[in-house]
Amino acid sequence: MRIVFIGPPGAGKGTQCKRLAEYLKVPHLSTGEMLRSARSEGELGCLVARYIDVGQLAPDDVVMQIVKKRLEAGDCRAGCLFDGFPRTLVQARLLDEHLAHCGGRVEVVLDLRVKQDELVSRMLKRAQLENRADDTAETIQARLEVFHTQTAPLLDYYGAQGVVERIDGMRSPEAVFEDIRSRVDRRREG
Ligand code: AMP
Repeated sequence: MRIVFIGPPGAGKGTQCKRLAEYLKVPHLSTGEMLRSARSEGELGCLVARYIDVGQLAPDDVVMQIVKKRLEAGDCRAGCLFDGFPRTLVQARLLDEHLAHCGGRVEVVLDLRVKQDELVSRMLKRAQLENRADDTAETIQARLEVFHTQTAPLLDYYGAQGVVERIDGMRSPEAVFEDIRSRVDRRREG
Protein backbone atom coordinates (compact mmCIF):
# COMPACT_ATOMS: atom_id res chain seq x y z
CA MET A 1 0.00 0.00 0.00
CA ARG A 2 1.28 3.48 -0.88
CA ILE A 3 0.37 6.15 1.64
CA VAL A 4 1.04 9.89 1.56
CA PHE A 5 1.08 11.95 4.75
CA ILE A 6 0.14 15.60 4.32
CA GLY A 7 0.40 17.95 7.25
CA PRO A 8 2.00 21.26 8.15
CA PRO A 9 5.43 21.19 9.82
CA GLY A 10 5.03 20.28 13.48
CA ALA A 11 1.82 18.26 12.97
CA GLY A 12 3.51 15.02 14.07
CA LYS A 13 3.93 13.43 10.63
CA GLY A 14 7.33 11.96 11.45
CA THR A 15 6.16 10.28 14.66
CA GLN A 16 2.99 8.87 13.10
CA CYS A 17 4.82 7.70 9.98
CA LYS A 18 7.35 5.76 12.02
CA ARG A 19 4.57 3.97 13.89
CA LEU A 20 2.55 3.25 10.79
CA ALA A 21 5.58 2.03 8.83
CA GLU A 22 6.33 -0.40 11.65
CA TYR A 23 2.71 -1.55 11.75
CA LEU A 24 2.46 -2.06 7.97
CA LYS A 25 6.06 -3.29 7.62
CA VAL A 26 6.81 -0.95 4.72
CA PRO A 27 9.66 1.57 4.31
CA HIS A 28 9.25 5.12 5.63
CA LEU A 29 10.43 7.63 3.02
CA SER A 30 11.04 11.06 4.52
CA THR A 31 12.23 13.54 1.89
CA GLY A 32 13.19 15.94 4.70
CA GLU A 33 15.57 13.31 6.11
CA MET A 34 16.85 12.40 2.64
CA LEU A 35 17.54 16.05 1.84
CA ARG A 36 19.17 16.70 5.20
CA SER A 37 21.54 13.78 4.64
CA ALA A 38 22.23 15.02 1.06
CA ARG A 39 23.47 18.32 2.56
CA SER A 40 26.97 16.95 2.95
CA GLU A 41 27.17 15.72 -0.65
CA GLY A 42 29.09 18.36 -2.61
CA GLU A 43 27.36 20.72 -5.00
CA LEU A 44 23.90 19.20 -4.70
CA GLY A 45 24.19 19.39 -0.91
CA CYS A 46 25.03 23.10 -0.99
CA LEU A 47 22.09 23.78 -3.27
CA VAL A 48 19.68 21.83 -1.03
CA ALA A 49 20.96 23.53 2.15
CA ARG A 50 20.22 26.96 0.69
CA TYR A 51 16.51 26.08 0.52
CA ILE A 52 16.17 24.11 3.75
CA ASP A 53 17.85 26.77 5.86
CA VAL A 54 15.38 29.47 4.88
CA GLY A 55 12.32 27.22 5.07
CA GLN A 56 11.71 27.11 1.31
CA LEU A 57 11.09 23.99 -0.78
CA ALA A 58 13.96 22.34 -2.62
CA PRO A 59 13.48 22.30 -6.42
CA ASP A 60 11.02 19.67 -7.70
CA ASP A 61 13.54 18.06 -10.07
CA VAL A 62 16.08 17.53 -7.27
CA VAL A 63 13.44 16.01 -4.99
CA MET A 64 12.04 13.76 -7.76
CA GLN A 65 15.51 12.50 -8.59
CA ILE A 66 16.13 11.50 -4.97
CA VAL A 67 12.69 9.89 -4.54
CA LYS A 68 12.80 7.94 -7.80
CA LYS A 69 16.22 6.57 -6.92
CA ARG A 70 14.89 5.47 -3.52
CA LEU A 71 11.82 3.85 -5.11
CA GLU A 72 14.04 1.73 -7.32
CA ALA A 73 15.22 -0.19 -4.25
CA GLY A 74 13.34 -3.49 -4.13
CA ASP A 75 11.98 -2.91 -0.62
CA CYS A 76 9.36 -0.42 -1.86
CA ARG A 77 7.63 -2.87 -4.19
CA ALA A 78 4.96 -3.86 -1.68
CA GLY A 79 4.36 -0.24 -0.69
CA CYS A 80 5.79 2.61 1.34
CA LEU A 81 4.91 5.67 3.37
CA PHE A 82 5.72 9.07 1.92
CA ASP A 83 6.49 11.56 4.68
CA GLY A 84 6.74 15.18 3.52
CA PHE A 85 6.37 14.22 -0.13
CA PRO A 86 4.81 15.24 -2.46
CA ARG A 87 4.78 18.89 -1.38
CA THR A 88 3.80 20.56 -4.66
CA LEU A 89 1.29 19.77 -7.40
CA VAL A 90 4.17 19.15 -9.80
CA GLN A 91 5.61 16.52 -7.45
CA ALA A 92 2.18 14.90 -6.99
CA ARG A 93 1.62 14.63 -10.75
CA LEU A 94 5.12 13.28 -11.35
CA LEU A 95 4.67 10.74 -8.54
CA ASP A 96 1.35 9.58 -10.05
CA GLU A 97 3.01 9.22 -13.46
CA HIS A 98 5.90 7.29 -12.00
CA LEU A 99 3.65 4.95 -10.02
CA ALA A 100 1.28 4.42 -12.96
CA HIS A 101 4.28 3.41 -15.02
CA CYS A 102 4.99 0.66 -12.48
CA GLY A 103 1.31 -0.31 -12.23
CA GLY A 104 0.70 1.36 -8.87
CA ARG A 105 -0.95 4.43 -7.35
CA VAL A 106 -1.35 6.37 -4.12
CA GLU A 107 -4.05 4.48 -2.19
CA VAL A 108 -4.45 6.67 0.89
CA VAL A 109 -3.64 10.28 1.74
CA LEU A 110 -3.64 11.12 5.45
CA ASP A 111 -4.47 14.78 6.03
CA LEU A 112 -3.14 15.51 9.51
CA ARG A 113 -4.77 18.64 10.98
CA VAL A 114 -3.33 20.72 13.82
CA LYS A 115 -4.17 24.33 14.78
CA GLN A 116 -1.63 27.00 13.86
CA ASP A 117 -0.67 28.15 17.40
CA GLU A 118 -0.18 24.55 18.52
CA LEU A 119 2.10 23.94 15.49
CA VAL A 120 4.32 26.89 16.35
CA SER A 121 4.69 25.87 19.98
CA ARG A 122 5.47 22.24 19.01
CA MET A 123 8.13 23.37 16.54
CA LEU A 124 9.80 25.72 19.00
CA LYS A 125 9.96 22.84 21.50
CA ARG A 126 11.46 20.57 18.81
CA ALA A 127 14.04 23.27 18.01
CA GLN A 128 15.35 23.01 21.58
CA LEU A 129 15.34 19.21 21.63
CA GLU A 130 16.75 18.42 18.17
CA ASN A 131 18.70 21.60 17.42
CA ARG A 132 17.36 21.69 13.84
CA ALA A 133 18.72 24.68 11.93
CA ASP A 134 15.35 25.26 10.24
CA ASP A 135 13.29 25.43 13.45
CA THR A 136 13.81 29.14 14.21
CA ALA A 137 10.85 31.49 14.67
CA GLU A 138 11.52 33.03 11.24
CA THR A 139 11.83 29.81 9.26
CA ILE A 140 8.88 28.27 11.10
CA GLN A 141 6.71 31.09 9.79
CA ALA A 142 8.14 30.65 6.28
CA ARG A 143 7.53 26.90 6.32
CA LEU A 144 3.94 27.31 7.48
CA GLU A 145 3.33 29.78 4.68
CA VAL A 146 4.91 27.45 2.13
CA PHE A 147 2.65 24.69 3.40
CA HIS A 148 -0.51 26.74 2.97
CA THR A 149 0.36 28.07 -0.48
CA GLN A 150 2.14 25.13 -2.11
CA THR A 151 1.21 21.92 -0.29
CA ALA A 152 -2.37 22.39 0.97
CA PRO A 153 -3.70 22.49 -2.66
CA LEU A 154 -2.70 18.82 -2.91
CA LEU A 155 -5.71 18.01 -0.73
CA ASP A 156 -8.01 19.04 -3.59
CA TYR A 157 -5.90 17.10 -6.06
CA TYR A 158 -6.08 13.89 -4.02
CA GLY A 159 -9.62 14.69 -2.86
CA ALA A 160 -10.72 14.35 -6.49
CA GLN A 161 -9.22 10.83 -6.44
CA GLY A 162 -11.29 9.94 -3.35
CA VAL A 163 -8.28 8.86 -1.30
CA VAL A 164 -8.12 11.50 1.47
CA GLU A 165 -8.68 10.66 5.17
CA ARG A 166 -8.85 13.71 7.43
CA ILE A 167 -7.22 13.12 10.82
CA ASP A 168 -7.59 15.33 13.90
CA GLY A 169 -3.97 15.76 15.04
CA MET A 170 -4.84 17.76 18.19
CA ARG A 171 -5.13 14.58 20.29
CA SER A 172 -2.47 12.46 22.03
CA PRO A 173 -0.04 10.64 19.68
CA GLU A 174 -1.64 7.33 20.75
CA ALA A 175 -5.19 8.47 19.94
CA VAL A 176 -4.04 9.88 16.59
CA PHE A 177 -2.30 6.62 15.72
CA GLU A 178 -5.34 4.50 16.63
CA ASP A 179 -7.46 6.63 14.31
CA ILE A 180 -4.93 6.37 11.47
CA ARG A 181 -4.54 2.62 11.94
CA SER A 182 -8.27 1.93 11.82
CA ARG A 183 -8.79 4.07 8.71
CA VAL A 184 -5.85 2.48 6.90
CA ASP A 185 -7.13 -1.00 7.84
CA ARG A 186 -10.57 -0.09 6.50
CA ARG A 187 -9.04 1.06 3.21
CA ARG A 188 -6.94 -2.10 3.02
CA GLU A 189 -9.97 -4.32 3.51
CA GLY A 190 -12.16 -2.30 1.16
P1 AMP B 1 10.63 18.13 6.76
O1 AMP B 1 11.63 17.38 7.59
O2 AMP B 1 9.71 17.22 6.00
O3 AMP B 1 9.91 19.20 7.50
O4 AMP B 1 11.49 18.88 5.61
C1 AMP B 1 12.50 19.83 5.95
C2 AMP B 1 12.82 20.70 4.74
O5 AMP B 1 13.30 19.89 3.67
C3 AMP B 1 11.65 21.47 4.16
O6 AMP B 1 11.41 22.69 4.82
C4 AMP B 1 12.13 21.70 2.73
O7 AMP B 1 13.11 22.73 2.67
C5 AMP B 1 12.84 20.39 2.41
N1 AMP B 1 11.90 19.37 1.84
C6 AMP B 1 11.46 18.21 2.41
N2 AMP B 1 10.63 17.54 1.60
C7 AMP B 1 10.53 18.28 0.47
C8 AMP B 1 9.81 18.12 -0.74
N3 AMP B 1 8.99 17.06 -0.96
N4 AMP B 1 9.95 19.09 -1.69
C9 AMP B 1 10.76 20.16 -1.50
N5 AMP B 1 11.45 20.38 -0.38
C10 AMP B 1 11.35 19.44 0.61
